[in-house]
Amino acid sequence: MKHEDFDVVEAGTNGKPIKMWTKGVPVEDDAMQQLKNTASMPFIYKHIAVMPDVHLGKGSTIGSVIPTLGAVIPAAVGVDIGCGMMAAKTTLFASDLPDNLHGIRTAIERAVPHGMSPKTRGFRGRDKGSWENPPKLVDRVWADLKDDFEAICEKTPHLAKTNHYRHLGTLGSGNHFIELCLDENQSVWIMLHSGSRGVGNAIGTHYIEQAKKDMERHFIRLPDQDLSYLPEGTQHYDDYIQAVEWAQRFARMNREVMMQNVIEALRTVIRKPFDTHVEAVNCHHNYVQREHHFGKNVLITRKGAVSAKPGQLGIIPGSMGAKSFIVRGKGHPESFDSCSHGAGRTMSRTAAKKRFTIEDQIAATEGVECRKDADVIDEIPMAYKDIDAVMQAQESLVEVVHTLKQVVCVKG
Ligand code: 5GP
Ligand code: MN
Ligand code: MN
Repeated sequence: MKHEDFDVVEAGTNGKPIKMWTKGVPVEDDAMQQLKNTASMPFIYKHIAVMPDVHLGKGSTIGSVIPTLGAVIPAAVGVDIGCGMMAAKTTLFASDLPDNLHGIRTAIERAVPHGMSPKTRGFRGRDKGSWENPPKLVDRVWADLKDDFEAICEKTPHLAKTNHYRHLGTLGSGNHFIELCLDENQSVWIMLHSGSRGVGNAIGTHYIEQAKKDMERHFIRLPDQDLSYLPEGTQHYDDYIQAVEWAQRFARMNREVMMQNVIEALRTVIRKPFDTHVEAVNCHHNYVQREHHFGKNVLITRKGAVSAKPGQLGIIPGSMGAKSFIVRGKGHPESFDSCSHGAGRTMSRTAAKKRFTIEDQIAATEGVECRKDADVIDEIPMAYKDIDAVMQAQESLVEVVHTLKQVVCVKG
């Protein structure tokens, strides 16, 4: 069968093929080498799938789908376990929003802690009192997560020292964001991006180190230390799978809590009553789970990729000055039913800060109520790939259901 929608790159004599949905979008040499290293691991199942937002990552390539049989690579999942997106459509229309959106932005910033931890300079958002006494919703969600947490802490002692439940309903920093968007019919959507915060970081860091130590102990040489793996059938593998699944649950609930808090914040600013149970999507883009592909149960690690089974809804954000998309999966078996998780970076944060000025940032985010200071230049829309080209390259993976454009953007 002829495949015109993707290219196939061979990873070398012992490697599995790399199937790439990257027609018309740039792919760095470094990212290509990183993909080849990953594809050379003996437990890769069939091939690696590469999405059009591909770029060099820490541990493994962002925008890649890594199917494994009999092992898991903790650094491929990374430390922001369960990072992902949530979007909810409201019954509000553009005409229901005030002309000046600054009040809405401030209300969201107050409702959702964001930036660094409250102890660190630079933390903005909910005052300290609320951190000490988390709202009721957090208590309810935490009650659900608590039992497993205690079991996992026994094996990951550092986890107990994190801010765990206090991090529920918090955004984090850097690339994480909350937006108010309009779709093609002028309907208002709330969209947000975050993961498992401190708990995922503690779990990820612990098992990445554990895997490295295990490799040393068994004299296993790797092309890259970050490919250190935990073989199925070992205690460390079982412990990791338990912990990573829990962190993924935490991440999903973190997004739910934030969404509730944003909705409540909006109700204080927009006097008109509105509903939000219209359409909602909550999807991970940094995670591992068991799935059935080509007749086998395998582990699928999506590092900056979204599940796109037939009919499944997903979210593909652009940048703080570009469109985003609600998509429906077509279920392309060769992609292991996946699509991209965004536009993907074209340059590092450092490069973006060197190259662009505040004036560039102001111009690129025109019409968006957002921060426009020196600290967000690394998030400038020009530091990301052209989202239209990225969408075109994955036409065989998803169809667009809604096109969103932000009017408010709160950055972490
Ligand atoms: P990541 O999870 O890799 O940090 O980011 C996912 C994707 O989100 C990026 O590849 C980029 O396309 C998109 N993105 C980054 N910042 C923003 C933002 O402020 N707003 C929107 N809508 N998308 C963003
Ligand atoms: Mn993240
Ligand atoms: Mn993310």
